[in-house]
Amino acid sequence: MLSRRKLLKTLSSVPVMGGLVGTGMLTPQLLGASVTQPAKRNFFKELGIRTFINAAGTYTSMTGSLMSEEVTSAIVFGATEYVDLDELQDKVGERIAELLQCEYATVSSGAFGAMSIGLAGVISGTDSEIAAQLPDTTGLKHEVIIQEGHNIGYTHALLNVGAKIVVVKSKKEMEKAINKNTAMLWFLNANTDNGEIKYEEFIAIGKKHNIPTFIDCAADVPPVENLFKFTKMGFDLVAFSGGKGIRGPQSAGLLLGKRDLIKAARIHTPPRGSTIGRGMKVNKEEVLGMLVALEMYLAKDHQKEWELWENQIRLISDSALSVKGVQTEIHVPPYANHVPSLRIKWDSNLVKISPEEARKKLMEGHPAIATVGDKETIGITTWMMDPGQERIVAKRLKEVLVNV
Ligand SMILES: *Cc1c(COP(=O)(O)O)cnc(C)c1O
Repeated sequence: MLSRRKLLKTLSSVPVMGGLVGTGMLTPQLLGASVTQPAKRNFFKELGIRTFINAAGTYTSMTGSLMSEEVTSAIVFGATEYVDLDELQDKVGERIAELLQCEYATVSSGAFGAMSIGLAGVISGTDSEIAAQLPDTTGLKHEVIIQEGHNIGYTHALLNVGAKIVVVKSKKEMEKAINKNTAMLWFLNANTDNGEIKYEEFIAIGKKHNIPTFIDCAADVPPVENLFKFTKMGFDLVAFSGGKGIRGPQSAGLLLGKRDLIKAARIHTPPRGSTIGRGMKVNKEEVLGMLVALEMYLAKDHQKEWELWENQIRLISDSALSVKGVQTEIHVPPYANHVPSLRIKWDSNLVKISPEEARKKLMEGHPAIATVGDKETIGITTWMMDPGQERIVAKRLKEVLVNV
């Protein structure tokens, strides 16, 4: 038990309570019986954390994306009642499958979690004893074949399940690598151009050998069509991040595809305990938040949003170009983060600041602005900004480039 003195001391360190403490009394307000609306707390300020304008994109380090009020309302609503977790996931899964015209779906703990439980289900089927054996894959099919150009860090989600990753360079090598231990073929949409085998051929190989195919589309919304395209194309499992372009909860994601495989993936998720997925819990609040984020995203005017981004990017580009020696390039990455993007570079004889210093200055200025970049360029996108912030970014960028 906390002593009264310790309790008061603790309370006095909670800033919003500051005004009430020191009276020497535990007032009803302190005990949560306040009748007046308390001042809205700025938690980040209390913690001494600076917030920033996100001119970079959907980066986990920058906490991804922001949720709309409809999504946060769903999350708050979820916190008010008890439900059966499996029933909620079952029904939300059906609803998402209907919205995305695929066989089945589940809300996962991010695209990374979707990869882990997806593969785990492929390996175990719905046998809970086999499920409990993972990540020990002794005696089980456990090899996942990946094209060399698709082999990035996120494949750790597959290793976590106990898989062995087999890397191949060509269709011929893939056919040769397939054996009785092959569990799954995994494709990274972002790196489509870095592999010889493209979608249709990849799926055909899987079908020919009766091996499930999985595509990681974590950052591939927009375009909205991608939410439908890959399940229809024939991939057995498709993963999206919830907290990137869909603007759902940052730690949620979507696993779409074949009903039997998703049912098997669910064997590995809470409330079941003896599973590799027990730590990948998705709470009811985020399950609802994910569903509503998806509904909101599908209902959006995507054309209008795209035009807004183009205009914002052009405004920032024009502002940078008004500084002598600066060059800009507006581009759209073909896969992943497929949004209007700006690359800025300059003649170092005319602009006396390095891109790295300029980015640091933007981040340390008021308001703080986060960008991406390398030794030669600054990269900017506007899709994670609030409308209007592009003006602030345009102004600050110019100030930094002319070194004021
Ligand atoms: C972001 C990302 C992931 C991880 O997604 P989370 O939703 O953060 O778990 C996996 N693969 C790729 C290609 C990504 O871009």
